[in-house]
Amino acid sequence: MTFATLGLIEPLLRALETLGYQTPTPVQAQAIPAVLAGRDLMAAAQTGTGKTAGFALPLLQLLTMEGPKVAANSARALILCPTRELAEQVHASVAEYAQHLPLTTYAVYGGVSINPQMMKLRKGVDILVATPGRLIDLFRQNALKLNQLQTLVLDEADRMLDLGFSEELANIYRMLPKKRQTLLFSATFSDDIRLLAGQMLNDPLSIEVSPRNVAANTVKQWIVPVDKKRKPELFVHLMRKGRWKQVLVFAKTRNGVDALVDKLQGLGINADGIHGDKPQATRQRALDRFKSSEVQILVATDVAARGLDIEDLPLVVNFDLPIVAEDYIHRIGRTGRAGNTGEAISLVCADEVNMLSAIEMLTRQTLTRKMEPDFEPEHRVPDTDASGQVVKKPKKPKKPKTSGGGGKRNLGKWVDSGEVTPAEPSIKPVRKVPVFNTGPRKKK
Ligand code: AMP
Repeated sequence: MTFATLGLIEPLLRALETLGYQTPTPVQAQAIPAVLAGRDLMAAAQTGTGKTAGFALPLLQLLTMEGPKVAANSARALILCPTRELAEQVHASVAEYAQHLPLTTYAVYGGVSINPQMMKLRKGVDILVATPGRLIDLFRQNALKLNQLQTLVLDEADRMLDLGFSEELANIYRMLPKKRQTLLFSATFSDDIRLLAGQMLNDPLSIEVSPRNVAANTVKQWIVPVDKKRKPELFVHLMRKGRWKQVLVFAKTRNGVDALVDKLQGLGINADGIHGDKPQATRQRALDRFKSSEVQILVATDVAARGLDIEDLPLVVNFDLPIVAEDYIHRIGRTGRAGNTGEAISLVCADEVNMLSAIEMLTRQTLTRKMEPDFEPEHRVPDTDASGQVVKKPKKPKKPKTSGGGGKRNLGKWVDSGEVTPAEPSIKPVRKVPVFNTGPRKKK
């Protein structure tokens, strides 16, 4: 199958040739004809599967073929994204695909001055990429009218709900013309998303190019158990040992990002951080420098790193496990993209066992554990498996104290999952781990 057999017009084919896209990816093969036929879409596609082109190419074609001019302060198609970086990235792809077409495209998001955006919208744009909050601001200030809108794309819809955008989405929904085409893309499909889809979509075609909630199989994943306080030291050790060149690191909080970046910079390591507290320009600069390999280690919170497409990124490190299990799939989806292979390493401490268990249950796999010599944790990370069980190892009977010991204690060394020594015969599940609440949560 080629892009030509999917019925794409020549100016799009020419743009794809320049970009080196030869064969449509599975999501593209299914989405392109459906969107061209005017269908609503509900697409579950893993990150890095080429979903942006899956919706952008047919959308550009429809707008070109229909031809009517966009009115002042209007948009004919709207692509909603959860974060500024993703909006910027999606817009960059759309603009590349549209390079030979007589269409205008633009991206609006918060964290930067609204005035230039209002100016730009005066003439109207064919395709507008936006984050929900800024879109509503522009609409309320009469800088944008949506009555000419014919297509709405919700990109990373699950993430928009995770970030607490459900109210904004409901407001936007009320602003839209009833007659329109709606395309919903999401890497993971929770019940909340299915509910949203039920409200927004009209007889949608469901596309599922990969099993639900399964991480990209091009990514080799494992965890290194470690005590919480030793994580920074272990990170530096692994980095030096593995001669890591370009690593995207995820930390749970903004403070966590800053602390790790400070520590790395203090050691003369070329690191930078992105999180929601930093001005947009600073975030974009750090990202650009990371993409061009000027920065070796980029530490990010989930919000800042969502959906980023970094070419040939070899390694993702979870310095902290994500609180929402689905985020694990998104995080490791930053590597192993477009058919490349990648690695994802998680540094896991005992406190995080429930998160680990939720991730294993969601991805239906037990993550391999690799002990790092000299970093074996004092606080053992209990065994887990893909069934959502945390397996508690029975305590060893206390040895009577021997006088004059003073030798080195072996702190918490334990067997890998699956290995059961005769001394510890009765490993049994003790409790079911609750599935994490993936409902709306506070913005980070
Ligand atoms: P996406 O999932 O949309 O973020 O795309 C992931 C990466 O795959 C991006 O770098 C795209 O440029 C690239 N890509 C998308 N479609 C194709 C294709 N058909 N052939 C080669 N690369 C592609």
